[in-house]
Amino acid sequence: MESLGVLLAARIDPYLEAELDRRFKLFRFWESPPAQRREFLRENAEAIRAVVGSPARGADAEMIDLLPRLEIVANFGVGLDKVDLRRCRERGVRVVYTPDVVTDDTADLAIGLAIAAMRRICDSDRYLRDGSWKDKGDYKLTSKFSGKTVGILGLGRIGQAVAKRAEGFGCPICYCSRSEKRHTNYKYYPSVLELAANCQVLVVACPLTEETRHIINREVIDALGPKGVLVNIGRGPHVDECELVSALLDGQLGAAGLDVFEHEPHAPEQLFGLDNVVLVPHIGTDTLETSKAMADLILENLEAHVSNRPLLTPVF
Ligand code: NAP
Repeated sequence: MESLGVLLAARIDPYLEAELDRRFKLFRFWESPPAQRREFLRENAEAIRAVVGSPARGADAEMIDLLPRLEIVANFGVGLDKVDLRRCRERGVRVVYTPDVVTDDTADLAIGLAIAAMRRICDSDRYLRDGSWKDKGDYKLTSKFSGKTVGILGLGRIGQAVAKRAEGFGCPICYCSRSEKRHTNYKYYPSVLELAANCQVLVVACPLTEETRHIINREVIDALGPKGVLVNIGRGPHVDECELVSALLDGQLGAAGLDVFEHEPHAPEQLFGLDNVVLVPHIGTDTLETSKAMADLILENLEAHVSNRPLLTPVF
């Protein structure tokens, strides 16, 4: 039987790469220079029947069109914004992703970023390391996280996990989603503006779509206000980054904890000197445990596909 040709669109996880290489015929996209990638796809178009993508590089319309034998796109992550779902549907290409296994880590990081930004953990760590504690005395007072009202934009798998964790800190929870959830008593706001005006810590946990691009605009940031905290563990383009930078520089927003940025791998350098901002390089799911679980889910889905068994985690 012809071995499944799998294009790995980006360097993701060494275990996943080794297993794809062992079980299938692997094509490493990054090994061809950017200017020759179209040619690379044309040359291998007869063999490639699967694409494994990441939050950085998925399967766009051009890639899908250059691969006439493509049958399945497997997305290493739950966010599908780098996969052209419409083109996949039109072409009858199946799509799988890795929901649930990413939830705990991403929710843990959201709480970590909120506390780190409010308690100035990163800045006070620098203060100790550069000798300031010895030379200048105690670090300044910071803001308490426990008991603050946490607003969640997108009460899905991750949003609910953030809510559960924040409840453990005695935080009242409110949220905004496309629809009100009957299974919770959390306060629902139909608009993100109302949510921002009524919470102290706003956590972005919705998918990136045309509707949610720049959903955190200047008006929302102003509603959150000089004591408000923004945590983004969704996607960078959810936030109008220019407005966020200007609000933080002017003291119009209290603090921010950011895992994702509008132009990754670039983060706004104007924020590097601010003590009330914590910046991490899109590490939401990057633990050994979760990376392995995501890789196994991708591999099991591809194995199911080649042996005509039902897919484990299909988008469609
Ligand atoms: P999910 O279970 O599908 O939940 C998404 C939630 O967002 C749903 O509650 C949905 O509301 C809501 N939503 C969708 N469109 C909205 C809109 N226009 N306005 C308000 N809410 C809206 O997805 P998940 O597993 O929680 O993941 C959420 C996102 O987190 C992913 O798409 C991904 O981009 C991001 N993520 C980031 C990392 C990271 O490393 N930083 C890791 C994992 C995931 P309804 O239920 O009302 O439809």
